[in-house]
Parts: sequence; structure tokens; C-alpha cells
Amino acid sequence: MNNKNNKQENYKKVSCPFCKGKEIVKRGTFQTEAHGKQQRYFCKNCNKKFIERTGFYRMRNNGKKITLSIDLFYRGVSTRKVQEHLKAFYPHNASHKSIYKWVIKYSKMISKFTDNLKLNVGYELQIDEMQYSRRKYPDRKGVDTNWFIDCIDSKTRFMVSSEYVKSRGQEELKSVLINAKNKTTEQIKIITSDGLMAYPNAIHKSFTLIEKSNTKKYGVRHNQVNASRGEGFNIMIERLHNNIRARTKTFRGFHGSVSSANSIMKGYAIYYNFITKHQTLKRCPYELAIPELKEKLNNPNKWLSLIELSNQSI
Ligand SMILES: [Zn+2]
Repeated sequence: MNNKNNKQENYKKVSCPFCKGKEIVKRGTFQTEAHGKQQRYFCKNCNKKFIERTGFYRMRNNGKKITLSIDLFYRGVSTRKVQEHLKAFYPHNASHKSIYKWVIKYSKMISKFTDNLKLNVGYELQIDEMQYSRRKYPDRKGVDTNWFIDCIDSKTRFMVSSEYVKSRGQEELKSVLINAKNKTTEQIKIITSDGLMAYPNAIHKSFTLIEKSNTKKYGVRHNQVNASRGEGFNIMIERLHNNIRARTKTFRGFHGSVSSANSIMKGYAIYYNFITKHQTLKRCPYELAIPELKEKLNNPNKWLSLIELSNQSI
């Protein structure tokens, strides 16, 4: 009964991809190899036929196979091993390069949606940087040293903002912080970081330092701690970075462009915030930071739910 209601509701939501018309009728089904039975629709306004454009529209593989691959990838299985798994259990082989492309495509798609969600957080952000190496060309030896800069809210542990960048200069730090500010508005009062010289200015130019603010009423305090002196500041973010290191070991460094490395790390942030339970919280960080999303992510395959939500928000 419940299932039937859901189906009717979904059908009502279908609108014409050509003219956005709402007067839609069903026009039979057809069988596809990748996606099974598909419903064909007809728009009474512009007389065109169409199929529903899900997040997997025009993909040669179905949503289950694609999200399963992405999930295994972020759990630490290499693209080659994912490919071997698919070969054993699914008809039609996908190459390890396709898996890599799916990871990038869907990480980008989902983060466009999740990056625009407002967060319910505590008062402290912890920000830090991790070093990564990247081979500029897969077939050559040139290796670049890059950085992954990210910050988490110490209450919900939500990874609020992150970016994979060429260097850890003031502009890069500022960009991560501005994004964090957009999502948290005026909730943050303290930003904790290591002793990197570029932080005070980057924080002032994004959040405003309270001692430098005109009114002295609005702004954040900067809690800058010298990690090398063993002040053990950023315990939470350091623990997270140890986990990221362990997970991303299978990447064996990045290869290709900064932008594709950035997309892969965006996917990691999605995995961390939405897919896995936090060891201490026993919940996913998003359940605390975006509680209203809990109902919408009711499919046990949350990658699939997130892709559907992202697709609807376009
Ligand atoms: Zn139409």
C-alpha cells in the first residue's frame, strides 16, 4: 500500500524535460539492458515523448552498479579491484577507468547539492591541511606537492568545507573559510588552527577577527596552536586526517589534474559526512548538522538517495 502511494507521488512529480509541462500521460514501457523496465511518458503540451531523467540518464550502467562501485572506492578498494568485483558479479565489464569517471562525475554532482545546504553547528571550527603528492601526467615522472585543506565543526564533526589545492597559501585558506562561513553564518566563534603564518589574515578576510573588527561585537577568535610543541590542539581534525590517510592510501597519490583530485576529495567528504557512522558519535555527522535531511535519506543506499536529491535540485 505504502509502495503504491509512493509510486503515484513520484509520477505526479514528472514534468516534461522539453517544455516543463505538467500534463503528462504514460505511454507504455520498454526494456533496457542497463536499467531494466523503463516508463515512457508523453507530454500533452508539446507532443513529445520522453523518459524520466534520473541521475543515471544516458549512463550505460545502472544506479546500483555505479553507486556500489563508488561506495567500495571510498571504503578503500582500488578501482582495479572494484572492476574485478564487477566482472565477477555483473554482466558487461566496465573498465577501471569508467569507475574512476563515475567517482568524479557523481562526487561533483552530489557536492553541488550538499555544498548549498545550511548547517546547524557548534561554535568552534578546526581547520588543518594535509599534504598529497600528485603525478601531473600518468605516463611521466613529474610529481607535484599539493594540499587538502579542510575544516570540521567540533560539535557535529561535520566536514564543513574542503578543497584540494596546489599550495596552502592565504588565498586557498581564505577560500575554504569563506565557503565555511556561507554555510554556518554567525554560529562560529572560535577557529582553531596550527601555526601556519597565513592563517590570521585568511581568517580575518573571511570571518573577521574580533580584535580587528570595527564594532568589536562581531567576529571570531583565532585559537592558533603550535602542534610541533605538542600542544595537542586539533585532536579531532588530526584523528580525521589519520583516517583519511588510511582510506586514501589505495589512491597511491593522485594522477591527472588538480580539479579531478579535488572532485575525488569532495567525494570523500560526502562519504565522511553522509555515508559512514562516526566512531564517537555513532551516527553520521549530517544527522546532527542537517537533521531535516534524515527523512529524505531513507534509502539504505544513501549514495542513490543523494544522487536523486541532487538531480531534483538542478
Ligand atoms: Zn512538453
